[in-house]
Amino acid sequence: MAEPEKKNGFKSGFISLIGRPNVGKSTLLNLLLGEKIAIISDKPQTTRNRILGIKNHPAGQIIFLDTPGIHRARSKLNQSMVKTALATYKEVDGVCFLIEANSPYNEENDFILETLKNTEKPVVLVINKIDLVPKGYLLPVMEHYSHLRLFEQIIPISALLGEGVEVLVAELLKILPAGANLFPPDMITDLPERFLVAELIREKVFTLTREEIPYATAVVVEEFKEREEKKLIVIKATIQVERESQKGIVIGEKGRMLREIGRRAREEVESLLGAKVFLELWVKVEKDWREDPRALRRLGFH
Ligand code: GDP
Ligand code: MG
Repeated sequence: MAEPEKKNGFKSGFISLIGRPNVGKSTLLNLLLGEKIAIISDKPQTTRNRILGIKNHPAGQIIFLDTPGIHRARSKLNQSMVKTALATYKEVDGVCFLIEANSPYNEENDFILETLKNTEKPVVLVINKIDLVPKGYLLPVMEHYSHLRLFEQIIPISALLGEGVEVLVAELLKILPAGANLFPPDMITDLPERFLVAELIREKVFTLTREEIPYATAVVVEEFKEREEKKLIVIKATIQVERESQKGIVIGEKGRMLREIGRRAREEVESLLGAKVFLELWVKVEKDWREDPRALRRLGFH
């Protein structure tokens, strides 16, 4: 059969979402997809792996890569994140660079701009969080960035309020090549359920703990069993930290913290999977895993 979409100007391709930590990449991705697949927090560097999200639109299929925030690498884990982000330029049809309206100029953005000068791919600049600034504030920012002559378009949005997002989708469709769906149109991510579950648990640790703990945490789903035709799903997961003292904090007094992490995660996992979930959480010390290449590989960082 012929590909009817192609004749109607149907578009498809990959767009990478880049920007410094905390600009709202994951918020935007979840909003675009109408489902929570990327974890969000007010602490930077939440997203560690590359996340693929598929936006199915009547005029095309946009496949987004939510990359870890680009920033100057310090630990081995951070170096691995920067490498992932830069490598995605090569695989995509276009780049969506996010900055914040309330903090439009900084060293990290300059660093990203430098990397963008070396790509042939079309780049759309997205100014997010416009809900945080008065209208008059935007114009000089847009002018400043348009003078760089690096962008196809400059689009102000609020990922939180959903403002400007339709315009953004329309602009991204313009830069994609003509083509049929690359993924089945009912698919919104290529991530396995296990990974999404681990990420939801990690998000709760992010929300409920502070200082170094969120960054020292990794979550591994050890067991994922569906019982009785999906009516109950039994999940066992390990929360991995770097030191004994961190383990104590994650477990909390009389196990209170761990129970709260488990309760909040279970609610979201149940809504993600559409089934009752029995969630068992363990906490394990894996000494200095962020600096250990073998531990990083086991967790899927390359
Ligand atoms: P990422 O690190 O780039 O993925 O950023 P996140 O999506 O995790 O968002 C970081 C923080 O910014 C979260 O607290 C979000 O709720 C917040 N945020 C994201 N978009 C907006 C926006 O348009 N307006 C406001 N006010 N906050 C936003
Ligand atoms: Mg993120």
